[in-house]
Amino acid sequence: MICPLCEQGDLFYAIIKGTTHRIIVCPECDAAWTHIENANQLYNCSTIEQVLLGYNLDNSWKNLIVNDRVDS
Ligand SMILES: [Zn+2]
Repeated sequence: MICPLCEQGDLFYAIIKGTTHRIIVCPECDAAWTHIENANQLYNCSTIEQVLLGYNLDNSWKNLIVNDRVDS
């Protein structure tokens, strides 16, 4: 599934390191959706930085375990 924001990157499922919280991220524009059913909705969009900050984690891809590409 192509990111609805930048329309360039593919969306991927990712797990926040040290948690079981699964989110959707765009590696291209760093958009993040914390509710995976909302990835095709522009609202509810956050950024990877904001999400990681909420877990007291640095804004780094090292804090994400990236999994499968999101099917459309
Ligand atoms: Zn994007």
